[in-house]
Amino acid sequence: MKITRSLTFKLILSYLFIILISFGFVSVFLEKNLKENTLQEIKSSLVTQASLISNQISIQSIVNEDIPQLEALLDQLRDKTACRITVVSSRGKVLADSEESLEKLPDMENHANRPEISDALAGKIGFAARYSLTLKENMFYVALPLKEDGRILGAVRLSLLLAQAEELFGTTRTAVLTGVLIALGLVFVFGAYFMARTIRPIKDMIRVSRKLSEGDLSHRILPASHDEIAELAVTLNIMAQRVEDKIREVDAHNQRLEAVFHSMVEGVVVVDKAGRILSVNPTIERIFGIDGKDVVGRSFLEAIRNNDIAEVVDSVLREGKSVSREVPLVLPVCKVFQINAAPVFDGNSINGCLAAIHDITDIKRLETMRSDFVANVSHELKTPLTIIKGFIETLLGGALEDPQNNRHFLMIMQGHVERLNTLVNDLLSLAYLESEESVFRRERIDLHQLAEATLADRQPQWQKRKLTISNELPSGLYVFADKDKLTQVFSNFIDNAIKFNKDNGRLAVSCEDLGSHIKVCVEDAGIGIPEKDLPRIYERFYRVDKARSRELGGTGLGLSIVKHIIERHQGSVGVESVEDLGSKFWFTLPKE
Ligand code: ADP
Repeated sequence: MKITRSLTFKLILSYLFIILISFGFVSVFLEKNLKENTLQEIKSSLVTQASLISNQISIQSIVNEDIPQLEALLDQLRDKTACRITVVSSRGKVLADSEESLEKLPDMENHANRPEISDALAGKIGFAARYSLTLKENMFYVALPLKEDGRILGAVRLSLLLAQAEELFGTTRTAVLTGVLIALGLVFVFGAYFMARTIRPIKDMIRVSRKLSEGDLSHRILPASHDEIAELAVTLNIMAQRVEDKIREVDAHNQRLEAVFHSMVEGVVVVDKAGRILSVNPTIERIFGIDGKDVVGRSFLEAIRNNDIAEVVDSVLREGKSVSREVPLVLPVCKVFQINAAPVFDGNSINGCLAAIHDITDIKRLETMRSDFVANVSHELKTPLTIIKGFIETLLGGALEDPQNNRHFLMIMQGHVERLNTLVNDLLSLAYLESEESVFRRERIDLHQLAEATLADRQPQWQKRKLTISNELPSGLYVFADKDKLTQVFSNFIDNAIKFNKDNGRLAVSCEDLGSHIKVCVEDAGIGIPEKDLPRIYERFYRVDKARSRELGGTGLGLSIVKHIIERHQGSVGVESVEDLGSKFWFTLPKE
């Protein structure tokens, strides 16, 4: 509004200035010309009149100085002209005057020295403008010589009140001024109209520019003409379109970044150069149990109370170099994190830091598990191999010829070879189950029948231990599973229930309906498992009593194979046990 007003004001001012200057010049010029022309007009009119009057004056009356005749003539002419008429002799004596009475004529001064008279008596046309002592007024005079045969006999003078000339001039000037004023008015009206038309698109541009500056980029200017302003409007429209496109592009880019930022598995935190948090992603909120909205603007250490991570961020802000470090976290969760922090530069100066925090707890655990596994496998292999090696050496050292022991030694070696074989088979099963290629061929299986067959296969074992066996699974209870794998599960549970049972103990296979799943339990009244071992019982090579397990031919891999098989069938495994009273191992499977 301010811009428009000032532009309007400036335009009006410049219009007025130009108009006033132009009309000022025109007026001055006109007045000067008018004055000159009016005077010239008056002069020539007076000369004409004087010439006409001189023609009517008889030369005889001049020569004879026949004053009454001249007075009579002037009396006749007085009403026909607005001028005063004076007739003088060649010596300058006033012979007649239209404004003076006959009686006063003798008192009148000699006019020979009056400039116009003296010019006329010299044969020229005399002009003069001066103050008349006789009439006490400014007068304009024109005098013509009265001649006969080239001889100057006198002069006739016409005088006009200058006020009369001024009046004439004034009338003309008023007319001119009126014209000028009307023109001025018209110029002003049309000027205002054209100015409004010129300013309207500029106002439109200001309005649209203001909308654009407020972030509303949907507005455009409609160019109403084809002039430079329209060109400017088109340019402004193109600019607005470009800005809108760019903003849309930046928005889309930001949205993509935001989506990546929010869906990242890594926790990301951005801090400014003073170490205050600018933003955190949901993973950080989850890890540290904080609300992103609450921590923005707060110092890093204050929001994420971890000295190690704060140190990493500090060193990045101080040194301007990326830092990568593993940081164990105890609170609020017991985890291991990999921190990768990089400086954010603004030109050459450090403007902040971006830290990506990756939860590597699982990787670490897997690494430990892998190294434990290798150590376990090596150990499991080493023991029987050492024993076999020892017996081979003994046999080669002469025991081969010892008929009392050689067979016994070979049988021990066979036992250990079998153990090795079982171990390798279990390891292969486990590797196969973990591999992507493992294929499960699912079919409809009657659980009662499967348990019955597994128990029947182990009849010698359980009979030897005098166990009471009961298969409480209802017949006609079906699941959809891989039969070989499920047989492996039943075999492991039942083998363990026999192995770790007490003589004359009990072994029962039962089930529970969990709605969507069936829970199958293998219960024994054996040695049970101490409470502290229960959480780790399904781990590879985990055995409560290693020596006893080995003695019983166990590898410590059976339960972990079961867990793999069941989980691949979308089920779960578990155990309940009381030391010395017995255990209940169970698995669940989705109903058919
Ligand atoms: P193993 O080959 O040693 O039987 P498993 O993985 O089948 O290996 O079992 C791991 C360990 O779990 C066993 O060594 C034993 O200590 C314990 N265990 C398994 N089943 C029973 C059970 N029914 N009663 C008591 N302990 C058991």
